[in-house]
Amino acid sequence: MTIAAFDGLLTRPGDPAYDAGRAVWNAMVDRRPALIARCASTADVVAALRYGRAAGLEIGVRGGGHSFLGLPVVEGGLLLDLSALNSVQVDPVSRRARVGGGALLGALDLASQRYGLATTAGNVSHTGVGGLTLGGGVGWLARAHALTCDNVTSYELVTANGAVLRVTETEHADLFWGLRGGGGSFGVVTAFEFRLHPVGTQALTVDLFYDLDDAGTALRGWRDLFADAPRQATPVARVGRREEYGGRPMASIGYVWVGDVEEGLRLLPSYEGIGKPAGQRVRELSYLDLQTESDDDERHARRRYCKGHYLQSLPDAAIDAFLAWDNNPGARLTLNGGAIGDVPDSATAYSHRDALVEFTTGDDWTDPGEDATRVAAARTYAAALEPYTSGSYVNTIADEDPAAVHRAYSPEKLARLHQLKDTYDPENVFNQTALKC
Ligand SMILES: Cc1cc2nc3c(=O)[nH]c(=O)nc-3n(C[C@H](O)[C@H](O)[C@H](O)COP(=O)(O)OP(=O)(O)OC[C@H]3O[C@@H](n4cnc5c(N)ncnc54)[C@H](O)[C@@H]3O)c2cc1C
Repeated sequence: MTIAAFDGLLTRPGDPAYDAGRAVWNAMVDRRPALIARCASTADVVAALRYGRAAGLEIGVRGGGHSFLGLPVVEGGLLLDLSALNSVQVDPVSRRARVGGGALLGALDLASQRYGLATTAGNVSHTGVGGLTLGGGVGWLARAHALTCDNVTSYELVTANGAVLRVTETEHADLFWGLRGGGGSFGVVTAFEFRLHPVGTQALTVDLFYDLDDAGTALRGWRDLFADAPRQATPVARVGRREEYGGRPMASIGYVWVGDVEEGLRLLPSYEGIGKPAGQRVRELSYLDLQTESDDDERHARRRYCKGHYLQSLPDAAIDAFLAWDNNPGARLTLNGGAIGDVPDSATAYSHRDALVEFTTGDDWTDPGEDATRVAAARTYAAALEPYTSGSYVNTIADEDPAAVHRAYSPEKLARLHQLKDTYDPENVFNQTALKC
């Protein structure tokens, strides 16, 4: 097996680099592609794609390899690995970043922060720009500057027939709509261009901790502050065991602030007035430290499961379900809104701009013997919130369940995504995406 005019690295079963090449973030994914093509250029992507199609191989495209289902890794197929397409070029004058399709979020943040700039990115720096952006992209800047996909000004896209297209609001506008939240179903994005914002380099996190018995009042008080939350603040509540409290189950409320810290601290008194916290933690840190602080907790090579919901309101009963924590995995509620809702719903494939709050719960472990109980615990916990939910974020899908994609997109958007698929990928070459779930 060889690919004509391919400058990257080809790896097959038995090659020394093969096992590292097929490993993704979630260690539960253990599939064996027939060929891994680590592409060094757009031309390599075109060549590998043509080869894979001619050979009749199923094709998976790997950005950062962080999808919970390990979507890029196809048993017996071709893994198109974009990790070498990782360049990031920032133009501080036009406030634009051109980013390779296989770059990680940390590289984008690092290059942008040299100029005090950033665009919305996720909370863990080793996540791929590719999958995160194609599914939407939420992070601490989303309430101020909208989703990651809302900040894309152009895509370089290799389509199923090997054409290289520039996709913008005015060029292939139908694809521009679909790529903004519709996932990787329409081709391989070899480069993104992003709008950057002058966010400065500072950040602040505020957490007030409560024993679970005292947390109901606290969470209700936290919720009552939503209406006045400035866009630079992202209110967050968590539940889980905390080492600093002897491993006790605790809840916390607070907010993450990006920008001038003095300004961010002005919100603190309104949070300190809520209930009777057992303690509090106020941290000033750089934006880059904020963006990397969970990197180790969320490290590779552990078994993982996650479940998420969007909620359009946060009634008392949903708060009670959130706090009915019974040795389940940790969980978080994060306020959405702000600039996310400024973008018209019809402008992008991403759905659920009207969500008030996102709920996420997740667990990690190492023993395969614990898979069933760990997954079941997360599902049971998340199911208790189900009655209050309006859907879910496509990038949190961790189950191969046809219902999952219907929770991620409205019926109209799903129909339009399928129409686009018929136009640009009628043979369903790019089928290792959330749309297949
Ligand atoms: C630790 C962790 C933290 C996370 N934090 C956040 C967060 O803060 N905010 C958030 O919004 N999401 C977050 N997510 C979810 C994340 O957005 C998804 O897991 C996303 O799929 C990761 O993208 P990836 O490129 O790393 O994954 P991959 O598994 O490589 O790809 C995911 C999907 O996108 C496709 N794809 C990837 N790159 C390209 C490309 N260049 N062209 C075409 N298709 C491509 C793949 O084929 C696949 O279908 C997090 C996930 C993890 C594991």
